[in-house]
Amino acid sequence: MKIAVIGTGYVGLVTGTCFAEVGIEVICIDIDKNKIDNLKKGILPIYEPGLEEMVVRNHRDGRLNFSTDLSGSIKDCDVAFIAVGTPPGEDGSADLKYVIAVADAIGKNMEEYLVVVTKSTVPVGTANKVKNSVQNALDERNLKIEFDVASNPEFLKEGAAVDDFLKPDRIIIGLETDRAAEIMKRLYKPFLLNGHPIIFMDIPSAEMTKYAANAMLATKISFMNDIANLCEIMGADVSYVRQGIGSDPRIGHKFIYPGIGYGGSCFPKDVKALAKTAHEQGYKMQILEAVESVNDFQKSVLFNKIKKHFGSLEGKHFAMWGLAFKPKTDDMREAPSLVIIEKLLSEGATVTAYDPVAMHEAEKVLGNSITFAKTQYDTLDNADALLIVTEWPEFRSPKFEEIGLRLKNKVIFDGRNIYEPTEMKELGFAYACIGRKDT
Ligand code: NAD
Repeated sequence: MKIAVIGTGYVGLVTGTCFAEVGIEVICIDIDKNKIDNLKKGILPIYEPGLEEMVVRNHRDGRLNFSTDLSGSIKDCDVAFIAVGTPPGEDGSADLKYVIAVADAIGKNMEEYLVVVTKSTVPVGTANKVKNSVQNALDERNLKIEFDVASNPEFLKEGAAVDDFLKPDRIIIGLETDRAAEIMKRLYKPFLLNGHPIIFMDIPSAEMTKYAANAMLATKISFMNDIANLCEIMGADVSYVRQGIGSDPRIGHKFIYPGIGYGGSCFPKDVKALAKTAHEQGYKMQILEAVESVNDFQKSVLFNKIKKHFGSLEGKHFAMWGLAFKPKTDDMREAPSLVIIEKLLSEGATVTAYDPVAMHEAEKVLGNSITFAKTQYDTLDNADALLIVTEWPEFRSPKFEEIGLRLKNKVIFDGRNIYEPTEMKELGFAYACIGRKDT
């Protein structure tokens, strides 16, 4: 079996590499020549644990190839995955121009039966648009070639993407024909041997499943942030409340950690896109609108605490630990750190930041508006306070004595609740966190 994966970003690169890993011949296609040239040399565009070694090995063994040439690459493929971006348009709806451009290119170049699978996160109805684009391009060529469309949304988590793909909780496939079902079953069989389920359904349900999953996860985060804010007002400790409610198996412990708001390339845009889809149909998704507004508010919570502590921020200098929207990724898209930095700079403060892997990506967005340090401790000199923004494991048990000595003031604002307020008090730090009493 041979497959093409079109769009070699987070999802496309992980998808292509993991299929190659189980022995399938894969061609990863992208319009970004620089990205493809680098991948051929074993240089990855993203940081993702475990991915580099797999890319290099599968490329060396000839199962994983890279190209910018869609026309020459898809001719002998059985399946073509569309894994390009679906960024939010100006009105919040998913912008499908990249998906449709790829569908059109597939129709212009395919030569035999093909299953065209959308892996990008797309609104209900997109597979139909893909089908029409492929068909129109075939009609222009006066060719009658059979093809099927399918929806196979991706549920990988950045930071654990390889593992998620190789050992999926579930594989969702929406399709219309038995022929396509047989091919997709054969393709995914290596991932099902350990009992991971594959769930077949109609295409609109598959498209909706992805949005519903992300919307539910975003809802859990915003709900917990709302509870945390009330805990603070009422003198309760959200860490106890979290453990208390998480013990109920109907609620569970995952995704109920309060913080400084969700970010990343998926939740913000997918929540917006789903609300927009509903709006276009005359339906108001009240919960999702609240989820989004709680999240917007939450991105300011740490800044508000800083402002309350210092009053004027003019001339103040801050050390920041963490920039990426979550640990184990260098993805800076919609990272809460960007909102906090923007607010601090606009009040006349300066920032020196450290992130184990995201500084290169952060520099592309922030330029020289902040400075970057070589180690987490090098951020501290002359800083009025330390801000914890991403909960990287190496920040969890730091040398507090060195922090105290190098900071100008022994003050920590922890947006991820990784330290214990009582311990921080004993160590002589003023410590502010989320949903617990500041000390
Ligand atoms: P990305 O921006 O990292 O990658 C998209 C790639 O597509 C880029 O390399 C771009 O150059 C390429 N591209 C654009 N137009 C092209 C074309 N015409 N032909 C070939 N390549 C083209 O995006 P991503 O994070 O991988 O997300 C892709 C999709 O998967 C989105 O819909 C996203 O919502 C969804 N998704 C993302 C994640 C995630 O964690 N990043 C998880 C699940 C689903």
